[in-house]
Amino acid sequence: MGAKEIHDGIYLVGSSDITDAKDCCIYLINLGDELVLIDTGAGSSVNTIAANIDRLGFKSSPLSTIVLTHCHIDHVGGAAALRQKYGARIVMHKLDASPLENGDQRMTAAYWYGVKFQPLPVDLAFGGQRHVLSVGSHELVLLHTPGHTPGSISVYIDKSGKRVLFGQDIHGPFLADFGANMKDWTSSMKQLLSLNADILCEGHFGVYQSNKKLTAYIERYLEEYGEDR
Ligand SMILES: [Zn+2]
Ligand SMILES: [Zn+2]
Repeated sequence: MGAKEIHDGIYLVGSSDITDAKDCCIYLINLGDELVLIDTGAGSSVNTIAANIDRLGFKSSPLSTIVLTHCHIDHVGGAAALRQKYGARIVMHKLDASPLENGDQRMTAAYWYGVKFQPLPVDLAFGGQRHVLSVGSHELVLLHTPGHTPGSISVYIDKSGKRVLFGQDIHGPFLADFGANMKDWTSSMKQLLSLNADILCEGHFGVYQSNKKLTAYIERYLEEYGEDR
């Protein structure tokens, strides 16, 4: 199955249904002059992901940027091959960049999947709460939203009248072995709700196409797992 358009210039190009059972949801943003990929799947499907991107036909727009929302293998396994194929830079939060740069089999969860994760250099590892990423003439906002992992991030963009939020692994799982922290997660989720986004692109469970659905989705998890400080 090929890519699906979610909103003007925003596509789902990979997922457990579209590319490989082990893959997270992989999203592509066409900014006109450049393309941005959000996450890369577990690694074995990079050729299918690339074919899905190629079929969209953005020949004159290079895939310049790969944003990794966190360090788990189902999100980062394809990063090395896609970085090389497109000459893209890899951007993520510095707290999750070190497991990649060190080839940490435990924190990347690679051992769970029975694969070996080779150390991968991160081109831009940002620190702090918020980073505005310039891509061509556009801006993406990267927010540090720890909880699932210490360096988990969420991404949003205002495009054609809608705010699109890439929240990724909102649903967990939350494992102390992977540095999960429920108090951090609770404040991260409240931060996401306060963005008043119109569309949620989630890490495994697809797309929620209204603020009402997005809010209900996050609030359901907050009711189940939320821990106030
Ligand atoms: Zn995931
Ligand atoms: Zn994860």
